[in-house]
Amino acid sequence: MSSINIKAFYRFCRVKVVKQVVDTIEKVVRVKVIPDKRYKPVCHKCNSPVERIHSYRERTVRDLNIFDASTFVRVVYRVVRCPRCGDVVEETGLIHPYMRVTRRLANYIVELCKFMSLKEVAGHLGLDWKTVKEIHKRHLLDKFSGEGIGKPRFLAVDEISLKKRHRYLTVVVNWETGRVLWIGEGRRYETLKEFFDTIEDKQKESIEAIAMDMWDPYIKAVRECCPGARIVFDQFHVVQAFNKVIDKVRNDEYRKADREGKEIMKGSKYLLLKNKDNLNEEEVPRLRAILEANKVLTTVYILKEYLKKLWQYKYPRRAEKFLDYWYCLAMESKIRHVMVFARTLKRYAYGIINHCKYPLHTSRLEGINNKIKVIKRKAYSFHDIEYFALVIKNAFAETN
Ligand SMILES: [Zn+2]
Repeated sequence: MSSINIKAFYRFCRVKVVKQVVDTIEKVVRVKVIPDKRYKPVCHKCNSPVERIHSYRERTVRDLNIFDASTFVRVVYRVVRCPRCGDVVEETGLIHPYMRVTRRLANYIVELCKFMSLKEVAGHLGLDWKTVKEIHKRHLLDKFSGEGIGKPRFLAVDEISLKKRHRYLTVVVNWETGRVLWIGEGRRYETLKEFFDTIEDKQKESIEAIAMDMWDPYIKAVRECCPGARIVFDQFHVVQAFNKVIDKVRNDEYRKADREGKEIMKGSKYLLLKNKDNLNEEEVPRLRAILEANKVLTTVYILKEYLKKLWQYKYPRRAEKFLDYWYCLAMESKIRHVMVFARTLKRYAYGIINHCKYPLHTSRLEGINNKIKVIKRKAYSFHDIEYFALVIKNAFAETN
């Protein structure tokens, strides 16, 4: 026991400390506070003073640690009869009506969540990670509630895969501001339709173009719900799709190769998919060796670099011509996976040609994608999609 007086740290209007126990051996501090009857209670919803008291309640909440001692506060508080809001919990300044921690500890948790994962915050404070998550989630819900989407001219729609759970999220971004406007579960027609259902006709009319993947459910949703908007298949998404083709071709070639060929191709996946400009000094000769040893891989590699040129054209006719040329090259390659891709590309040519008029550059989508990957790596709790969506929104709000 000690004679340290901690009352000074509980200078909240309307509560007073009636008991304090500081156990320096167990490293625990216990405090009891009760309503200070010199003040009228205040409704936590509308903040007005209330005359009538409905009942008294008690609960224990965690507070900020006092040095290395965990601090628990036993709070006696009142349920008041507010003429406007009904029977509600009074506002004490110390606790939030629904949280298991004091307001100041909640603020501290929110600060820590900027730099640490939920589990790290929970471990640091000796709290359950679910408690930490709930506090952070409530903060984000408050932050983003009532936020409108404005009148965006260009949108980007992207999907996020949560591979471990075989689940997807659809993300809608304002292309110009980089703000995440909406996140929904799944990647179906209904998913994107849900977004359009939440916005007004005037907002839909303001949308000129939408960049997205060659994904039929999204295309259907845009055509039905936002027919005035042009669909643009951006370079990032199309090249990503072609990368999958390269990977399939590489697997086929690896299977066919002799021991020496296999040795050369080891670790080639990453080199083949990496952007040419991002290769380092060691990687350039390695890639060259792989390409020299395998003609089929050389062909797909050249086709990929060539494909990217499609997005450099400003005139639809020229882009169309180039697409035809690329198609012929792809068909001449006689590589099965490449031919399938080329036919698909031709079917979606309109969206690639639209890029001439609406040059929605690929860098923005790439940036969004990379940022989401980082968030995923931090291992946020995926079971709570709503929370995950809020964390993504928050990440984009802070840097854009
Ligand atoms: Zn009230």
